[in-house]
Formats: sequence, C-alpha cells, structure tokens
Amino acid sequence: MYVFGKDDAPHGHMHIKLDNVRVPKDNIILGEGRGFEISQGRLGPGRIHHCMRSIGVAERALELLCKRALSRTAFGKPLAELGGNYDVIADSRIELDMCRLAVLKAAYMMDTIGNKEARKYISAIKVAVPNMTLKVIDRAIQIYGALGVSQDTPLAAMWTGQRTLRLADGPDEVHRRVIAREELKQYQ
Ligand SMILES: Cc1cc2nc3c(=O)[nH]c(=O)nc-3n(C[C@H](O)[C@H](O)[C@H](O)COP(=O)(O)OP(=O)(O)OC[C@H]3O[C@@H](n4cnc5c(N)ncnc54)[C@H](O)[C@@H]3O)c2cc1C
Repeated sequence: MYVFGKDDAPHGHMHIKLDNVRVPKDNIILGEGRGFEISQGRLGPGRIHHCMRSIGVAERALELLCKRALSRTAFGKPLAELGGNYDVIADSRIELDMCRLAVLKAAYMMDTIGNKEARKYISAIKVAVPNMTLKVIDRAIQIYGALGVSQDTPLAAMWTGQRTLRLADGPDEVHRRVIAREELKQYQ
C-alpha cells in the first residue's frame, strides 16, 4: 500500500490478511499470550532510535535552511535578513537542542532505571521530537519556496517521513496519556 502516494520500495508497506493461520507450538516465542510483552520490549528502544534519527533529520533541515537563507537573494538582500527569518533560524536551533537534551535524558533514564520505568521519558520525546522536526522542515520548505516542495530537495520526503512518525510506534495522544498518567500517579 502507499504512504503519502509512494510505495516506499524496496521496504514497502502492505496489507496482511491472517486467515486461519496455524503456528506450530515450537515456533512460539516467549510463551502463549505473551506477544504484546515482546512488542512492548522492542518498542522502548525502537522509539528512542526513531527520535535520534529525527534529531539528525532536523539538523539536516536546519543546515539546508541556513544555506538557502544565505545563498538566495530577494528584494536586494539574502533571505536570512528578510522578514522574521533570524527568528525562524534561532527558534529552530533552540527547539532542536531542547529536544536533543530530552533524548539524552531519556537514554540516561533507560540506562539507569530501565526501559519500562523510563517510559514517561521515552513517550515525551516520541511526542516532542517528530513535532519539532516537522516544524523545522516546514520552515526550511518555506525558505526554499516552490523548490522546497519539489523533488530537487530532500525536504518533502523528510516531511512525509516525520509525519508518519506521529502515528507509527504509537500516536501522540497515546504517548501523552502515558505521560499524564505517570504524572498523576505521584499524587494519587
Ligand atoms: C508508515 C507507517 C509505518 C508503520 N509501521 C509499523 C510497524 O512496522 N509495526 C507496527 O506494529 N505498526 C506500524 N505502524 C502502525 C502504527 O503503529 C499505528 O498506525 C498506530 O499505532 C496507530 O494505530 P491505528 O492506525 O490503528 O490508529 P488508531 O488506534 O485508530 O488511532 C487513530 C487516532 O485516534 C486517536 N487516538 C487513539 N488512541 C487515543 C487515545 N488513547 N487518546 C486520544 N486519542 C487517541 C489519535 O488521534 C490516533 O491518531 C505503522 C504506521 C505507519 C503510518
């Protein structure tokens, strides 16, 4: 099936219909009824890994943004000096570095208190990082103008990739729920 109009080959995404599937007992991993446990065990490290890659994507988008803001001239000035573009660049750096520190904190918590106990920190970055990255990419697209939505920059593909991350490995709302419940627990 298609994601944002692309088939994402060679990796791809597909519909799978499981119809009367029988799995030999010997092939069961961990134990009967424990599949969710396995997927949860994988998801914590998987989610932080997505966030680390997203930080890299945001860095690349900001780099592209800055290069274009310096090289493209309009109304007699580089784009960097027009409108609120200094603010756009500064806000991108501020938000990116805040997210990077939050990812480092989540990694530290996973290493010290364990993946399960660190879920609040993992959920926090799983919400914050793709949203921040989307914002930075969107700003870069704006600076590039029409070029930004064409195939001549990687920005459009970066945006669609990050947009799916607000769903994959748990939608934002579910992660917010995890964070809120952990916060409330302290006072119940
Ligand atoms: C490109 C892509 C790749 C994916 N790859 C994988 C993969 O490799 N393995 C895998 O297992 N899954 C994968 N997924 C699936 C992904 O994990 C699910 O799409 C995601 O968990 C959301 O589930 P759902 O699509 O069934 O939406 P639903 O569960 O129906 O949720 C839809 C919407 O309802 C709202 N919602 C849901 N729950 C709550 C709540 N508690 N509070 C408030 N609002 C809520 C949110 O707005 C949410 O976006 C992938 C998804 C995408 C887009």
